[in-house]
Amino acid sequence: MNNLENIIKAINGSNDFVITSHCSPDGDNIGSSLGVYYSLKKLGKNVVYVLDDTIPLNLRFLTKDVNIYNSEDMFNKDYVLIALDCGDKSRLCCKEHIVKNCSKFISIDHHASNDAYGDLNYIDIVASSTCELVYNLLTEMTKELDIDIIDEKIATCLYTGLVTDTGNFSYSNTNPSSFLMAYHLAKVGASRDEIIQNIYQNNSVNYYKLLGEALNTLQIIEKKVSCITLSLDMLKNNNIDFNDVDGITTYTRDIEDVEVGLLFKQKGPNEIKVSFRSKNYVNVSKIAQKFSGGGHIRAAGCTINDTLENAKNMVIKEVLNHI
Ligand code: AMP
Ligand code: MN
Ligand code: MN
Repeated sequence: MNNLENIIKAINGSNDFVITSHCSPDGDNIGSSLGVYYSLKKLGKNVVYVLDDTIPLNLRFLTKDVNIYNSEDMFNKDYVLIALDCGDKSRLCCKEHIVKNCSKFISIDHHASNDAYGDLNYIDIVASSTCELVYNLLTEMTKELDIDIIDEKIATCLYTGLVTDTGNFSYSNTNPSSFLMAYHLAKVGASRDEIIQNIYQNNSVNYYKLLGEALNTLQIIEKKVSCITLSLDMLKNNNIDFNDVDGITTYTRDIEDVEVGLLFKQKGPNEIKVSFRSKNYVNVSKIAQKFSGGGHIRAAGCTINDTLENAKNMVIKEVLNHI
């Protein structure tokens, strides 16, 4: 039996579930979590969604009808815990007791750095998104149970993650299977206009002011590396939340001759989140892993507990070794 079959068996044999994902939530994180959440509810299961972080403004259209629990308010026991889109255990966005109190731990993920930390793991590092893996899982379950699981709402969740993780079907992780999935979700009735308008066409004016300031920090190093810096002050002065600026990362990579783009985001005086993007040949997941982070070949991240200046120096030095 392969992992997918074991996971379906575990789901069919259980009634209580907790869903979680990684911190700094993104479209794939929330889309895959809610895709599973709504599917399990539809099958009559008890499901609790736990995530100890702020939902980005542009993804709140997905979560507006969902009760999201904080770890501190959740003391159930003996449930199946499903972690989605989370490459390693230390990045889970819930407290330790959530993992300790589960009877079975399932990881569904597509990160190259995933070390199969679950009791059952469905990991495919060439999949476009975790949403695509959830789509595969639900398609198999639909066949086995003979119930049409994927409805408009679930299709909207899964299409969101597919669009955000593939950069609107433009990144190299976009596989032929991703288009088949998009075709099916569109046919089922995924709210494509709602997704695109909320994610890409609803930025605040302050966001654009911050973007202007961010672009003014752009540095090009040896033609091949670029970096943009977002300090705590810049976020505070423009009244923009730390979790609402991920879209700025793409500007670092989309420059002629640049192979690696870096975004340095200051979360606290000595807490710097680094986003890595590459265009053709540098494996940024490997570089991020040197700083205890991870991700994919063309998109990765890490958090460095040091000053902004030191974090930049260390990371740029390491990146130059790979150019
Ligand atoms: P981001 O730059 O935050 O958009 O992240 C790019 C990719 O790297 C995503 O797939 C993230 O899930 C992953 N990633 C980001 N930060 C980390 C980290 N600290 N550890 C492991 N993976 C990460
Ligand atoms: Mn993610
Ligand atoms: Mn993902």
